[in-house]
Amino acid sequence: MRPFDYARATDTAEAVSAVTADPNTSYLAGGTTQLDLMKDGVLGPDRLVDITRLPLGGISHLDGMVRVGALTTMEELAADPVVARRLPFVREALLLGASTQLRNMATLGGNLLQRARCRYFRDPTVPECNKRDPGSGCAAIAGIQRMHAILGTSDHCIAVHASDVAVPLVALDTTVHVQGVNGRRHIPLTGFYLPPGDTPHIENVLEHGELITTLEVPLLPEGARSTYLKVRDRVSYEFALTSAGVVLMMDDGEIREARIALGGVGTIPWRAWRAEDVLRGARPGRDAFDAAAEAALEGAGPLPGTAFKVGLAKRTLVRALESTAGAES
Ligand SMILES: Cc1cc2nc3c(=O)[nH]c(=O)nc-3n(C[C@H](O)[C@H](O)[C@H](O)COP(=O)(O)OP(=O)(O)OC[C@H]3O[C@@H](n4cnc5c(N)ncnc54)[C@H](O)[C@@H]3O)c2cc1C
Ligand code: SF4
Repeated sequence: MRPFDYARATDTAEAVSAVTADPNTSYLAGGTTQLDLMKDGVLGPDRLVDITRLPLGGISHLDGMVRVGALTTMEELAADPVVARRLPFVREALLLGASTQLRNMATLGGNLLQRARCRYFRDPTVPECNKRDPGSGCAAIAGIQRMHAILGTSDHCIAVHASDVAVPLVALDTTVHVQGVNGRRHIPLTGFYLPPGDTPHIENVLEHGELITTLEVPLLPEGARSTYLKVRDRVSYEFALTSAGVVLMMDDGEIREARIALGGVGTIPWRAWRAEDVLRGARPGRDAFDAAAEAALEGAGPLPGTAFKVGLAKRTLVRALESTAGAES
């Protein structure tokens, strides 16, 4: 592991200035992604600015939304009673991620910014990785692809965005508040992530040094039903092969509104807009859910090692919709 300087920030503006001023300085929150990658030699910052003492924790409940400080841990958010009652699929996604120990360290801001789990990205002895070393190639495209993406991929990168909780948060139209040296701005989470294109090393719209301060998550209306379903190779402590976060709002036996996002299949947490359109105004049932699943996976570009994910993702979504609709009746 390369030597690095460590500073503990006590003032938010000073932390933002310090990181912005130096491209080789990074934030440190819970460290569960950052320190792993440093120990593995994937990242080698000259300096870490520890933000865990900044006043960016806490959960507050406003009319129709919950405001979550970026340093709130996954466990803290999962334990919040309003989240449990009004955003149950967010809670499910949190508790199906990582392990209890990790969730007690891992922050929401860090979760949204976690890096790819691609084995080639995480192994610096592999020379080809456009995300780690732009222009070097992509070892996964001719390699082992089981955990890789089928939506939003490019010829330059097929890595999945691995966050579970980002899936329901994208479905809910969460807003991300950030602070930079030139002030604050807010960004819809649906526009926060960037598919790889020919610049896989640029994963989101943040400028270097911009700090996530808060998330604003709209609450589901009373009566809305939601599910987060995660399919993985083992039942605990494993990333998703496929996942689906769904919301159904019903009116007179018809679907008034649907929210759908997929995990484990996209290079970004994948909002399935076309599937939502298919369900709006439909009667819940297998035909409508199959049509929604077809629409959600339209444009999927699997490779031999990820071909199984097309069918698996459709079945995951149909099952999530069926259990959500079942809960409604
Ligand atoms: C073994 C293991 C299993 C896991 N399983 C899952 C899983 O099943 N599902 C899942 O969703 N996740 C899983 N994770 C990922 C885990 O949830 C993330 O590592 C964690 O949420 C990152 O949060 P952190 O606070 O530790 O971030 P850090 O590691 O401290 O930071 C991560 C990145 O975000 C940046 N950063 C952190 N906070 C901010 C901020 N406020 N503003 C700007 N930049 C910031 C850091 O500079 C760094 O680049 C797993 C991780 C491990 C190690
Ligand atoms: S899929 Fe992306 S992260 Fe993995 S080797 Fe290819 S470029 Fe790197």
